[in-house]
Amino acid sequence: MTSPTSPAGASPYPHLLEPLTLGPLTLRNRTVMGSMHTGLDDHWWDLPKLAAFYAARAEGGAGLIVTGGFSPDIRGWLKPFGSQMSTRLHAARHRQVTDAVHAEGGAIALQVLHAGRYGYSPLNVGASDKKSPITPFKPSRMSAKEVDRTASAFARSVALAQRAGYDAVEIMGSEGYLINQFLAARTNDRTDAWGGTATQRMRFPIEIIRRSRELVGADFPILYRISLLDLVEGGQTWEETAELAHLLEQAGVSVFNTGIGWHEARVPTIITQVPPGAWREQTARLKATVGIPISASNRINSPELAEEILAAGEADLVSMARPFLADPDFVVKAAAGRGDEINTCIACNQACLDHTFANRKASCLVNPRAGRETVLVLSPTRRARSVAVVGAGPAGLAAAVSAAERGHAVTLFERSPRIGGQFRLAMAVPGKEDFAETLRYYGRRLEVLGVDVRLGAEASDADLAGFDSVVLATGVRPRIPAIPGVDHPRVVRYDEVLSGAVVPGRTVAVIGAGGIGVDVSHWLTHSAGDQDLDTWKSYWGVGDPSLHRGGLTEPKQRPVARDVTLIQRKTTPIGIGLGKTSGWAHRAVLKQSGVRQISGATYDAISSVVDGDGADTGLVRLALTVDGERRNVDVHHIVLCVGQESVRDLVADGRTVIGGADVAAELDAKRAIAQGTELAAAL
Ligand code: NAP
Ligand code: SF4
Repeated sequence: MTSPTSPAGASPYPHLLEPLTLGPLTLRNRTVMGSMHTGLDDHWWDLPKLAAFYAARAEGGAGLIVTGGFSPDIRGWLKPFGSQMSTRLHAARHRQVTDAVHAEGGAIALQVLHAGRYGYSPLNVGASDKKSPITPFKPSRMSAKEVDRTASAFARSVALAQRAGYDAVEIMGSEGYLINQFLAARTNDRTDAWGGTATQRMRFPIEIIRRSRELVGADFPILYRISLLDLVEGGQTWEETAELAHLLEQAGVSVFNTGIGWHEARVPTIITQVPPGAWREQTARLKATVGIPISASNRINSPELAEEILAAGEADLVSMARPFLADPDFVVKAAAGRGDEINTCIACNQACLDHTFANRKASCLVNPRAGRETVLVLSPTRRARSVAVVGAGPAGLAAAVSAAERGHAVTLFERSPRIGGQFRLAMAVPGKEDFAETLRYYGRRLEVLGVDVRLGAEASDADLAGFDSVVLATGVRPRIPAIPGVDHPRVVRYDEVLSGAVVPGRTVAVIGAGGIGVDVSHWLTHSAGDQDLDTWKSYWGVGDPSLHRGGLTEPKQRPVARDVTLIQRKTTPIGIGLGKTSGWAHRAVLKQSGVRQISGATYDAISSVVDGDGADTGLVRLALTVDGERRNVDVHHIVLCVGQESVRDLVADGRTVIGGADVAAELDAKRAIAQGTELAAAL
């Protein structure tokens, strides 16, 4: 591809698109595709797919790609037989990855990561033998000799990466992996030369850099991902982080990439509810104290925000991992003035990190082609068809846009006056504002591709006659449970609440505690301004690391707008089925918001609450049985969040049904968008 840079001044993103020279390497712009494990990194037979995945991002203009983490030895595995770079054979096999990226004019760095006590493996090791709260395996305490050998193993991996054709390496020193475990008193209680004082705890990463530099020469770029905020008790102070940065710079680091929070931290750092740009202040703070380029990272998902950070002089590069999963063409679109066509990462983690932590291959909710570049292909069609898509929720939008991209003539019918379906409701939830970006993306793509969009149009059989293909993505309607009295006027549905059609009173019972019940409880209790950065940080106890070790302080109490009781029939803890990497944070918000939780309930009846004279009090009563005992919950409103049923009115032979109209249970946008895209690929 041609360089996606434009002359300064001609682009809305002049700082983002400016090249940067690092020794022999010139990056064509200031974007870094941050490290992310894809699940294609573990086995040599998946390397062709990994090469295609990175090549697509290089073709799309990424300045520097950083691979997922590769361990320097067996004891550093993320999981048994996980990604590793420790032999010449490994290096030789990686040639296909580096060649594929270079063929597209890109640059790529290998990340070297030793998982330490985070290794999901009985072979894992640590600075001490303290088990992590997020893995079941207790690590073996490394002997002084083993520490020394491991520092050399890191350096050998770095040299092998150079041999494999990588343009740079990144040493993973953040997120709570082995290097972090050496740096923090929390996990390093050693009294030998690798511990004891803060400066001695820094010896391990310094030795890694010193030995790496010796092997690869003076010019080869070495990035180091430094933890700016550990967000765990017993983490580093700011002064220790700054001292570490100085020592690393002297030892030969070329660029600092930045990380926020250990994986075991109980402060969310990258999910949707984290305000965009939340951590830029820390990057600026480090930049003011070091002399080498520094990259901002975490919760930066638009060229506008990236440009703003660079223009403010807070960083020299901007690292974005998930945004490049969501849209491989992020940079070329920005450079061409087509920023409104970028498929924005909505920080849901549903198809990327949640997959990785479930030992599945990573993809992307808004871009199911991520990681499947060689198998889910939207090639131009040889026989253009007329395609009717009914319903403009996630499934219908994905089908319509993907079919139009292939060259089919698409007509999209949507009953409501706007596109989005259930996604439009999701974006009303506090902290899910980014979901609106997905609808902006689809809306713009429909326009650019010339799809005939008919809003406010209820498609009939007559409308659908004559199309070569008819795709039904008619979605769902909220389920109404068979509870006696459910038609009471103070019983409302979640869609009525989230759309603003009904404003519930001060006390509310929420029936059904799936993803939507939890979201609605958050919506009901939140206050205006909760998502303002300083306020948000105060609720999570994020403080100044100069004053508070690890950057953790006492959380502030959230103001609570309504008194909410969240109820389910299951006896399991509420919210247990939510995403692995975000569910804990949603459960924490419920707790912070004082939401009462009842599990194991049977719903007996709903009725008005009357006073002694039989007059209506304005309250509604939900009569329950819990553990064999009858209970009444008297509230101003009851909100139903009990799942959905498919809308299948137009189903007929020869029509294809996708999304919630196909399967309403476990309705989710990830499946809907993937199904729509796969269908279009097969048309
Ligand atoms: P859901 O997850 O299926 O939950 C609805 C809940 O209602 C069920 O768990 C069930 O729990 C209860 N229920 C079902 N039928 C009932 C009946 N007849 N009477 C009383 N209770 C009944 O559906 P959802 O909450 O509407 O969410 C839909 C999908 O949206 C989810 O699957 C998820 O993929 C997605 N979503 C995810 C998130 C997130 O991860 N943060 C947020 C929003 C939406 P009991 O039987 O135990 O009461
Ligand atoms: Fe972003 Fe969600 Fe896609 Fe992950 S799955 S890259 S968080 S949009």
